[in-house]
Amino acid sequence: VNLHPRAALVAVGDELLGGEIADGNSAWLASRLIEHGYEPTSFTVVGDDVAPLEHKLRELCAANELVVATGGLGPTLDDITREAVARTAGVPLERDEPVLQALEAWFRARGREMPRANERQALFPRGARILPNPLGTACGFSLDVGGCTVAALPGPPHEMGRMFEHELLPHLRPIPPKEARARFYLLGLSESEFADAAGEWMARTGNPLMGVTAKAGVLTVLLRSRGESRSAALELLDRRCAEFRARFGKHVFSEREADPALAVGAELLRAGKTLAVAESCTGGLLCAVLTEVPGISAVLAGGVVAYSNSVKLSELSVPPALLERHGAVSQEVAGAMALGVSRRFGTGLGIAVTGIAGPSGGSADKPVGTVCFGLSEAGSVQTLERRFPPVDRASVRRYAVNVALDCLRRTASAAGH
Ligand code: ATP
Ligand code: MG
Repeated sequence: VNLHPRAALVAVGDELLGGEIADGNSAWLASRLIEHGYEPTSFTVVGDDVAPLEHKLRELCAANELVVATGGLGPTLDDITREAVARTAGVPLERDEPVLQALEAWFRARGREMPRANERQALFPRGARILPNPLGTACGFSLDVGGCTVAALPGPPHEMGRMFEHELLPHLRPIPPKEARARFYLLGLSESEFADAAGEWMARTGNPLMGVTAKAGVLTVLLRSRGESRSAALELLDRRCAEFRARFGKHVFSEREADPALAVGAELLRAGKTLAVAESCTGGLLCAVLTEVPGISAVLAGGVVAYSNSVKLSELSVPPALLERHGAVSQEVAGAMALGVSRRFGTGLGIAVTGIAGPSGGSADKPVGTVCFGLSEAGSVQTLERRFPPVDRASVRRYAVNVALDCLRRTASAAGH
């Protein structure tokens, strides 16, 4: 059973098809429609030509309860959305006198005469409901096409967004939610390790349905359950969430906060452990994300960016013999950096990162993407080595920051419980 009305999104414009700009409108509309109980079924990008748009609209109207098109409502001949919708509905375009007068007034108010081209913007498919646009000259419209509502909104995102919120959404039929959702954010597991541990939970036919996305070491897991009522859906969801916590709890850094720095910073504040940071390949990024946490000064003393070996020696008291024997990217040096910075700043915790972000500088036993971590706590040191995909410097650095945050999270939450 499909419990949700289906919505298809269409973005119109040669500039989208040509790859000059990306379709942000459909992504935004999809997330808003989901919040209102719709099920987005597809995103389509079409150029500024009537026939292909008409063809696509016919197909989408047959399979959806709502189709929202954005763009192509301008005054020029390449703005074809009204024409295509009218043909799809089999109705003529008709001029709307009040809109024409409003357009003339719009130009008059700006001390200009209305160009003839703008007359096109007063044309609407017969039977359409006109959606006013106080932010521009392109009014939108909505129209019933064989039981499917087709809405046409302007392309500029702020005009589109306002029109959707104020002119379209209030007229869509309200849908009691029969779906419930939960999210989990995890660190310390790869996507495939997660899939192995999740097993059947990830089946596409599952209820709750579970999806996972990975970004720089952070996994976002979305659970969606459906039921005959909202409370039935919630019950299914709650049961699975409890099982999920039992299975994955030690990797979950939050059920609300997607940003690991904000979640871990809050955990550090709760644990009340003071911290200093020593960074080489991340060049201060770890410290920067931690300082995004409001109030973090209560526990974060500061950091040292020790990029060159001489600074590792002089500022962090890394023993020269360690650097010579193991190299700057080694667990030994990471541990010494962590210890050095926590002693220097007089903190309980010290965290250190040293690695090879690339593209050069790798070797057979320490390829690009190798990053070592040190964590010192009350004088005792733990270390860790990871190999991240050598995509580019930014990616290696983002992974490294997230693993360092995971080290801190485990220490802080161990203290909290
Ligand atoms: P207008 O009369 O204001 O031009 P329009 O409906 O004709 O309205 P378009 O010409 O298609 O709008 O688009 C105007 C601008 O809006 C584009 O240049 C682009 O910057 C932005 N835009 C259009 N479609 C999208 C989209 N799908 N995602 C993001 N931005 C978009
Ligand atoms: Mg256009």
